[in-house]
Amino acid sequence: MHFYLPTKIYSEHNCIQNHKTELASLGTKALIVTGSHSSKKNGSLDHVMTALHDMDKPYCLFDEIEENPSVELMVRAAEFGKKEGADFIIGIGGGSPLDASKAIAILMKNPEYDGSVFYQKIELDAYPVAAIPTTAGTGSEITPYAILTRHDKQTKQSIYQKVFPKLALIDSQYLLTASIQVRANTAIDALAHLLESYVNCKATDYSRMFCEYALKLFSRIKDRLKEEATTKIPSKDLDFYDTLMTISTIAGMTISHTGTSLPHGMSYFLTYHHNIPHGKAVGTFLGSYLEHYKEESTKTLLLSLMGFESIKDFKQFLHNVLSTVSLTTDEINTYSDNMMENTAKLTNCPYPITKGLMQKMFLESVEIIN
Ligand code: NAP
Ligand code: ZN
Repeated sequence: MHFYLPTKIYSEHNCIQNHKTELASLGTKALIVTGSHSSKKNGSLDHVMTALHDMDKPYCLFDEIEENPSVELMVRAAEFGKKEGADFIIGIGGGSPLDASKAIAILMKNPEYDGSVFYQKIELDAYPVAAIPTTAGTGSEITPYAILTRHDKQTKQSIYQKVFPKLALIDSQYLLTASIQVRANTAIDALAHLLESYVNCKATDYSRMFCEYALKLFSRIKDRLKEEATTKIPSKDLDFYDTLMTISTIAGMTISHTGTSLPHGMSYFLTYHHNIPHGKAVGTFLGSYLEHYKEESTKTLLLSLMGFESIKDFKQFLHNVLSTVSLTTDEINTYSDNMMENTAKLTNCPYPITKGLMQKMFLESVEIIN
């Protein structure tokens, strides 16, 4: 077994202001990397700029990160950062800006390479990254992964290089501005990380310890998630937001050691070809993935940790929180063929996968349209 998690984590309210000295000490000029809207609305961008002003630290801003960022966008942002002379990155936002920060930090530190290096087996250092999550789902603030859209392959894929953020500043107050659907999708992403990590060939006692604790936390908030999704009334309970964030970060700790498996691999087709948000796309396959797992005692343990009586209950919960996805049988055939070549995700799956089973998992997870 091994355990390696070099990110320094602070999780508290007013986190950025409280730790501005450490944030500013990461380099001489910051490149702030964020999306176009949410960090302005939830206050996180203001908090970072104020902290840098307080510390007399210069910065520049790249606020064009879109959902599921592409390799091409990373190249453009890195060019901007290099021209500005920045030497550390502060990512603010959901998994998209945080993953982007890691990829940009690699290109800026290694100006001799272009975007094709992300999918070559070349290990590279990166400029220091600080990560400030504003969704509770990906755990990207403490994972070494960056998943980018590859237009050349018409899918999404993790880059080869691994970059752990040096610093994660976690403040659940930023979740308050997220829509109910963003909150639901991202919470299900975190849940998927826990389940795909637990039911995984690379799982160890260490990684399972994280999963078991966070699944118990999940049992405390699952009814609130369902209530939000069904009533469309946002929760005002601050403890709910804290718990969502903690689950997400712990889930990031565990996938840092095991990686994810089939639901993540299968989700990339829904996101690339049908524009379905990451958490919803992953959650679509989660019930089926767990159902086909053969070890009944483990399955029972996982369901009871989450607070579900049966796999049927669990699937019903996912159905209530996420809406249904529709695919044609032709699409299912193509995606199943492609998944059978995804050795990285298949290797992590603890039960044998045939093409027939892969198709079955697609068929029982989506609505068929023809
Ligand atoms: P996201 O793509 O980062 O953001 C989704 C949407 O939510 C955007 O429109 C964003 O707006 C908005 N948003 C973010 N925070 C908000 C807030 N506090 N209030 C209101 N709106 C907010 O979503 P995500 O699910 O967090 O990240 C998904 C990405 O992470 C995918 O690319 C996925 O592959 C990747 N991922 C990475 C890992 C990892 O280990 N590194 C793990 C799982 C998934 P703006 O665009 O305006 O910011
Ligand atoms: Zn995920």
